[in-house]
Amino acid sequence: MSSDIAEFAVLPNGTKYPVIGLGTHNVTGGPGSVRKAVKYAIDIGYRSVDCAYAYENEKEVGDGIQAKLDDGTIKDKKEMFITTKLWNTHHNPRHIKENFQKSLDNLKVNCVQLLVIHWPISLKDGDDLFPKDKNDQIMFANHDIIDTWKGMEELVDAGMAENIGLSNFNKSQVERILQSARIKPCNLQVEIHPYFSNRKLANFCLSKGITVTAYAPLANPDSPLWLPINQLSKPRLKLKDCRSLTFISLYYNRRKGKEPSIFDEPVLKDIAQKKGKTIPQVVLRFILQRNIIVIPKSVTPSRIKENFDVFSFSLSPDEMEQIWALDKYPRIWIEKWASEHKEYPFHEDF
Ligand code: NAP
Repeated sequence: MSSDIAEFAVLPNGTKYPVIGLGTHNVTGGPGSVRKAVKYAIDIGYRSVDCAYAYENEKEVGDGIQAKLDDGTIKDKKEMFITTKLWNTHHNPRHIKENFQKSLDNLKVNCVQLLVIHWPISLKDGDDLFPKDKNDQIMFANHDIIDTWKGMEELVDAGMAENIGLSNFNKSQVERILQSARIKPCNLQVEIHPYFSNRKLANFCLSKGITVTAYAPLANPDSPLWLPINQLSKPRLKLKDCRSLTFISLYYNRRKGKEPSIFDEPVLKDIAQKKGKTIPQVVLRFILQRNIIVIPKSVTPSRIKENFDVFSFSLSPDEMEQIWALDKYPRIWIEKWASEHKEYPFHEDF
């Protein structure tokens, strides 16, 4: 484990994947906040944006990038590394191309740099993100992940995605894809932060030459979605600002109880103080020194800037060890609503 970090991971086809990108999963932000965040992020040097069809704001990402092309901050959209995700209702290989075209249209590009399968779980085909039957039960589909992967490979053949990868797959699911893939997945995006290191899965992927991207790298510190749905009246979260209550109640089915916060951790406070850095910067640097890409989300300019300032210091092996000791909580994103699906990834240890 080296304390030096490169600014890019180089993917097998030579594409450079910036090790820090802007997350855009912004359920509670008002309309336009992601567009502004993307513009600001590009101004200060971000060249990677992580989005998803299911976040329902790809258009804002596309608008933000277009604005920065129009004002000359970037000369070509290809200077950007755009990641998006194939949603669970779009797994049917027969319709992957037409469904993915919606993402390209939203983003106003002909091709993305990385497309990942958002979850190994498929839901009933269609445009409803969380289709439910008349008994209010979520409607699963059972598309074979290998077939879906073949559909992803065809997107590369068609020039619609430069690279393809996976998200929320466990080790055995990644292995199944590796065994049958014509084009190997170049990336796995999974939850990783000091409280949940995902060490075994990350090391497995790195050993296979698969890059790893940490989502929720800050353990989603001030997310109002920690709150039960009936407490949504807290000032920070205005109900009218939420994009979709169905989305919240289903998607955010997270662990319960008192949640730990990185801002309360004495170890992180001490290290941050010693380095003259903030706790988020220390946490991001910790993950980067594991050779893992980070995509912290913020719509707050000062935080977007703060999170990008992670190259001017490093953590010693002893400091890394101290932070490893925080690895003692379960994952945040348990997605309980999907736990009956045959491809639910989190029944296995990793
Ligand atoms: P995160 O990046 O760990 O945390 C985001 C939260 O932290 C936001 O509430 C943000 O608030 C706050 N924040 C950001 N920087 C901060 C700072 N410097 N100081 C204090 N607070 C700060 O969590 P996440 O959004 O869940 O994950 C990041 C990205 O990963 C997502 O946006 C998405 O792109 C991706 N993701 C992917 C999956 C998947 O299934 N593949 C799942 C979850 C997330 P403000 O915005 O209000 O500033």
